[in-house]
Amino acid sequence: MSTEELPPRESMEFDVVIVGAGPSGLAAAIRLKQLNADLSIVVVEKGSEVGAHILSGAVIDPAGLDKLIPDWREDADCPLKTEVKDDRFYWLSEAGAIRLPNFMMPPLMNNHHCYIGSLGNVCRWLARRAEALGVEIYPGFAATEVLYDDKGAVRGIATGDMGIARDGSWKDSFTRGMELRGKYTLFAEGARGSLSKQLIAKFGLDASSEPPKFGIGLKEVWQIDPAKHQKGLIQHSFGWPLNNNTGGGSFLYHYDENLVAVGFVVHLNYDDPYLSPFDEFQRFKTHPAIRTVFEGGKRLAYGARAITEGGYQSVPRLSFPGGALIGCAAGFVNVPRIKGVHNAMGSAMLAAEHVAKALAADRANDELVEYENAWRASPVGKDLYPVRNAKPLWSKFGTILGVVLGGFDMWCNTLGFSLFGTQSHLKPDRKTLDPAKAHQPVAYPKPDGKLTFDRLSSVFLSNTNHEEDQPVHLKVADMNLQKTSEHDVYAGPSSRYCPAGVYEWVEEASGPRFVINAQNCVHCKTCDVKDPNGNITWVPPEGGGGPNYEAM
Ligand SMILES: Cc1cc2nc3c(=O)[nH]c(=O)nc-3n(C[C@H](O)[C@H](O)[C@H](O)COP(=O)(O)OP(=O)(O)OC[C@H]3O[C@@H](n4cnc5c(N)ncnc54)[C@H](O)[C@@H]3O)c2cc1C
Ligand code: SF4
Repeated sequence: MSTEELPPRESMEFDVVIVGAGPSGLAAAIRLKQLNADLSIVVVEKGSEVGAHILSGAVIDPAGLDKLIPDWREDADCPLKTEVKDDRFYWLSEAGAIRLPNFMMPPLMNNHHCYIGSLGNVCRWLARRAEALGVEIYPGFAATEVLYDDKGAVRGIATGDMGIARDGSWKDSFTRGMELRGKYTLFAEGARGSLSKQLIAKFGLDASSEPPKFGIGLKEVWQIDPAKHQKGLIQHSFGWPLNNNTGGGSFLYHYDENLVAVGFVVHLNYDDPYLSPFDEFQRFKTHPAIRTVFEGGKRLAYGARAITEGGYQSVPRLSFPGGALIGCAAGFVNVPRIKGVHNAMGSAMLAAEHVAKALAADRANDELVEYENAWRASPVGKDLYPVRNAKPLWSKFGTILGVVLGGFDMWCNTLGFSLFGTQSHLKPDRKTLDPAKAHQPVAYPKPDGKLTFDRLSSVFLSNTNHEEDQPVHLKVADMNLQKTSEHDVYAGPSSRYCPAGVYEWVEEASGPRFVINAQNCVHCKTCDVKDPNGNITWVPPEGGGGPNYEAM
């Protein structure tokens, strides 16, 4: 079916169109309304409701919230209730755990002013605040296309058509997407945003930056025995079960009423194609110092999401004609602190301030170069600059030496200098896998169904749901390459890095067949990052599909 045969799309005009209702998209919308209540602002969100696709730790540095909504602590409706009371850092070996003294940590690693909670619930609350100010929020609509004017400037987005069958034909339910046109469009899609990736390529936004870097973060929420709950305790670890060449670590946050958020991040520049981040996470929970927390408890939720790790030197140019990237679509996570929410909100407010100024000056669809020029000197740039070498040093020198050097460099930066300059990240994550013949298959322990679980029972807890009869949203550019390289050279790492069991190589008489169980996809975007040939592209499925996280 050619596009000429498609019925026209309805079009709506706004001052500002925002893609994504995460902390950055919602902070931008709120700030714009605070600056000018008459502006028309629309936010589209691909999740079935705001928060449905949000997954974070989360220990939140309130710097962003304090600026956006200074009286948030007095708002009984705000879900952030648990203040950090105790902050512990561990180095794990297979059987032991060494606690690192807090005085060794650079002051910027201090978490004592932070709050623990569900970022999904924080976003639901921010959405209510935004709607009260008159922002229009459309959940269940994925932005699938960037609209351009005849000069090539961004003019808004189109949401995806609904009711297309797997074979591309129209079902009875076929409905054309909508065009949401704006004077400026802010892309707040989070890590590895699908439209943001297109914009970075089209406008060459990464021409002067280092490659983007990512980790995969897996998370569970547990209700634990009240006797073991220590509200306000947060702990992080590195070391076991990962080897010295593989970056990553765990988090464990006690909050609210007997809840513990436990998660594991694996840096996606790992080299062993047999490594399975999901199984490393399950194995981590069996450590003698960790398992006791969960014994007698109940797992309530599971999910996974990519996290940006490139930091200061990987941030692409933020502005282009007609729009800008905000939040983790650009990548503002402070990696050693595992914190991005305050910078997502900070970058969003900065962009909003420049958009409001431009609109007040009757400008439209031009480049917000003032935003690009301002971020490095803003609190966001000042937060990221001192930690810029933590990730590259870890990648180059391995965990033990890399973490020590990274800590030393953060101390030096605190004192105003660095012996390392600004380190390069070198390769993009997809280029770091070794051929399988350089490694041995890993025999992960079988799940016990109490403390450790398999992928499918985990995906069940993410409440993931997609309309089954729709085109597969994981686009494999060249199936032959998938067989000759991903399978034959790398032994099919997609079946291990995908945290939702979407990819399988099924051995058949005619040879191995690549199966894509697209309906299981939790939208983490890892395949878009880690496929060794960049052969898989994640595009949004029908709006409303994907995980339905209740409080991640
Ligand atoms: C495991 C893990 C633990 C973390 N822990 C912490 C922590 O403890 N503290 C902290 O501060 N930070 C933490 N972070 C980082 C933090 O979550 C991010 O920095 C933050 O969520 C970024 O906000 P954002 O608004 O830019 O993107 P996101 O939070 O990813 O939100 C993007 C939104 O846009 C929507 N969207 C995307 N594409 C489209 C589209 N095309 N159309 C419509 N909607 C779309 C998504 O569904 C989503 O709702 C963690 C991240 C992970 C993965
Ligand atoms: S298919 Fe890709 S985006 Fe979906 S869950 Fe698997 S790795 Fe994540």
